Amino acid sequence: MKKLIALLLAAALVLPCALTAFAADDSGSFGAYAHVFIIGVDGAGRFIKDADTPNFDRIFADGAVDYAVRAEVKTDSGPNWGSMLTGVSYFQHKIQNGNSGEEQRTSDTEYPSIFTCVRRAMPEAALASFVHWNNINYGIIETDIGVEKVQVGSDAALTDEICAYFDAGNAPTLFFVQLDEVDAAGHSFGSNSEEYFAALHTADGYVGQIYDALERNGLLEDSLFIVTADHGHRATGGHGGITMRESLTTIAAAGRTVEKGGALDKITRDRDIAAIALYALGIERPAAMTARLPAHLFAGVDGESRPFFKDIVDGILSPVVWVFTLMTAIF
Ligand SMILES: [Zn+2]
Repeated sequence: MKKLIALLLAAALVLPCALTAFAADDSGSFGAYAHVFIIGVDGAGRFIKDADTPNFDRIFADGAVDYAVRAEVKTDSGPNWGSMLTGVSYFQHKIQNGNSGEEQRTSDTEYPSIFTCVRRAMPEAALASFVHWNNINYGIIETDIGVEKVQVGSDAALTDEICAYFDAGNAPTLFFVQLDEVDAAGHSFGSNSEEYFAALHTADGYVGQIYDALERNGLLEDSLFIVTADHGHRATGGHGGITMRESLTTIAAAGRTVEKGGALDKITRDRDIAAIALYALGIERPAAMTARLPAHLFAGVDGESRPFFKDIVDGILSPVVWVFTLMTAIF
C-alpha cells in the first residue's frame, strides 16, 4: 500500500513536469518547423493594414501580425531585402539597388544570407527563391550554394510558376518570394492612391494562391509562413527617405507555435526575419547577426535584446533617425 501511495505521489509530481516540458517543447521551440516560406511584397510597407486583403486576413487569423516594423534607414529594396536575408544592417552588408544588380554575391562573404546558413547546416536541403526583381537572386542570395532560382517579370506569371513548383512535389526547407507590382503602383501613383490599394488587393490574391498551393500539397502543417515588405511609399510615390510612410513595414507570421494575435515588440526591424527563420528551422545564427527574436511572435518565447556593440553605427544612428521619422507623422 505504501509503495502504491509512493508511486502515485511520484507520478503526481513527475507527470505535470513532463507535461509542462512537452508543452514548452511544442510552444515555439528552436527547430519546431521543417519549412519556412517568406513571401515579400515589395513596396507594401505598412499599408496591407488598410487594404482589402481577404487572403491575408484568413491566413493570419490565428497568427502574429505587426504593421510597425522598421525598415532599414535607407528605405530601398536592396538594403531591406539584404537585411532580411542577412540579418545585419545596411551599414554592414552595404547591399544597394545598384550593386545588387552588378556584383554577384558568393558564400565567402562576411555576412552570409540565411540561405547559406541553412545550406551549411543542411547540405541536402532543397532551397528556392522565386522573384520578380532579379537583383535578389543575383546580388543578395549567394550564387554558389545550390539555391533553385527563378525570375519572372510578371507577378501573375511568377505566382503560376510557384504553384507549379509545389504541385510538382517540391518541398523546400527555405523558400523566398518577391512580388514587385505593388512597388510599381507606389512609384506611379503614390501610397494614397486607388491604384496602389488595388495593387495590394491583387498581391493578396497571389499570396492566397501560394498559400493554397502549399495547403493542397500538405506543406503547411510543419511550416512557418511569413508575409513581409521591404519599405512603403510616400503619399506622392517613391521611397528611400525616412518618413513614416516609407519606413514602417509589415511582418505577419502563421504557424502552429506562433502566438495567436501576437503584436511584435516595438524594437522589431525587418532584418529580424533572418533570426526568426533560423530559429524556426533550429539553425544557430552567425555571430555577426544583429537580427533578434521579437517578443510575441512564438508563443512562450521571450524577445531578445539587440546586440548594440556588434553594430555601433546602426546602434547610434538608427535611434536618431527614428526621432526624425516620428516627426514626419506630426508635421
Ligand atoms: Zn522595394
